[in-house]
Amino acid sequence: MALHALFGGTFDPIHLGHLAVVEALAQQIALERVIIMPNNVPPHRPQPEASSAQRKAMVELAIAGNPLFGLDDRELRRDTPSYTATTLAQWRQQHGYQQPLGFIIGQDSLLTLPTWHQADTLLNQCHILVCRRPGYPVKMASEAHQRWLESHLTDDVSRLHNEPAGCIWLADTPLFDISATAIRQRLHQGRTCADLLPAAVERYIREQGLYRHAPDET
Ligand code: ATP
Repeated sequence: MALHALFGGTFDPIHLGHLAVVEALAQQIALERVIIMPNNVPPHRPQPEASSAQRKAMVELAIAGNPLFGLDDRELRRDTPSYTATTLAQWRQQHGYQQPLGFIIGQDSLLTLPTWHQADTLLNQCHILVCRRPGYPVKMASEAHQRWLESHLTDDVSRLHNEPAGCIWLADTPLFDISATAIRQRLHQGRTCADLLPAAVERYIREQGLYRHAPDET
């Protein structure tokens, strides 16, 4: 069955690491479509530097003309925290429970995943597709979390296509040493990031005067 996946994140800004790693994953496991879902950051958490509208606009520019990707702004339209478990439950209500569905994360996010809101329900709704990321171990922080990971791991790609949910796939994707944090820091220092961003996103950032100053600069 056609395998679709959701890809959540702050995307402040979306960068070539996001796109390249997901393109590689898509090739590897025959992902048909990836829906990028920028999240709403609740008021008590450090706020993204770009507004919701700007983060959405940058995703639109980054994926324009690329049929692999789509954008879903449901989390941006909510004024409550973006809980992946809630979003996935809503997605399933709308799209049914039979279609296989992936949720893409980087290795750093896998390490924190057991602490996510209603983490134990996530694998009822989707497969977790994990992309490699430089600097993060493949080992979970506790024995219990490591056992949980191992009990869901599969290296049988057909399960991702034939079962609606329930597997964790550790993808053998290339390492891209790119993070939004590093990009923002370089831009704060007035340095260029043309090698790390899609050209249209880089242009948008310049036109909007985004990331010119660190948030704590007066
Ligand atoms: P920040 O530096 O602001 O935390 P980020 O670059 O990690 O941002 P997010 O929007 O937080 O970007 O990431 C969304 C998802 O993409 C997360 O699951 C993250 O692990 C993954 N991701 C981001 N950059 C990479 C990368 N270079 N390689 C693999 N996965 C990545």
